[in-house]
Amino acid sequence: MTVDGKRLRIAMQKSGRLSQDSQALLTSCGLKINLREQRLIAHVENMEIDLLRVRDDDIPGLVMDGVCDLGIVGENVLEELSLQRQIDNEPYNYQVLTRLDFGGCRLSIAVPQEENYQSVKDLEGRTIATTYPRLLNRYLKQNGVNARVVTLKGSVEVAPRAGLASAICDLVSTGATLEANGLKEVEVIYRSKAVLIQRRDLAESNKLNMINKLMPRIAGVMQANESKYIMLHAPRAQLEQVIALLPGAENPTLLPLAGNDAMVAIHVVSSETLFWETMEKLKALGASSILVLPIEKMME
Ligand code: ATP
Ligand code: MG
Repeated sequence: MTVDGKRLRIAMQKSGRLSQDSQALLTSCGLKINLREQRLIAHVENMEIDLLRVRDDDIPGLVMDGVCDLGIVGENVLEELSLQRQIDNEPYNYQVLTRLDFGGCRLSIAVPQEENYQSVKDLEGRTIATTYPRLLNRYLKQNGVNARVVTLKGSVEVAPRAGLASAICDLVSTGATLEANGLKEVEVIYRSKAVLIQRRDLAESNKLNMINKLMPRIAGVMQANESKYIMLHAPRAQLEQVIALLPGAENPTLLPLAGNDAMVAIHVVSSETLFWETMEKLKALGASSILVLPIEKMME
């Protein structure tokens, strides 16, 4: 099955943990998006792109089946469906265009806090509840553990208290949900981030051109997200020591200050932020007006 029409179709999560970041990424790439209506399809006003807003579970299948050209989805969901389709002998073709800088989480096994857990062997013969049965089964197999896997679509974290399982395997980012349910994380089985995927058989040149235009913009947005613009005034006499404290400042820009020959302005684009401790050291060297600014876009 292929996609009809000229417009590039991007599947993204409608509402959930990935939707705001996905939308912000596309907006930063220059797409004018009007999401005021609660519609399945949102037309991008200034480019030949349509956004399909769906449940995250549906995104990998839409791309693998060629119904959407691109998709933004968590690797956990993508990998789970790939494994399922491999097991069921169904096509699971897709291409990862880039890993993104949001949606980070880990799929972990958790057991009751009071348990004296030693190793993965302690899971032998137990019942483990999860939304990701294939990822969990793969992990158990790799570790030579026999356990019963129960699939639950939601409320996995209450399964032990409800007597449905004695352990769980669920997504974790801070661990607060586990703690609130009397559980502790004992094994990380998969580390996930959001990824941008493309369908394999995409051949329409206008769509490929659009993707070729989008990719450097996405790279530029991600690079800008992790970069800072640092400005400060420093005494000329301490210039070397000041520059040595600035992260990634091999060739900083130096600018004269009007009416003050003893001081100079330093501007640096840095891939790291400036910590308070470093700012205090700079201040101690006589630096002033230290500013750390976010960068919106960049292209090298
Ligand atoms: P939908 O209604 O679209 O099916 P959902 O409830 O299945 O949404 P969300 O909870 O919105 O899914 O999570 C979407 C994705 O966000 C996850 O699949 C995962 O990749 C990522 N994610 C990041 N941090 C977490 C977390 N702490 N818990 C769960 N998912 C997380
Ligand atoms: Mg879901």
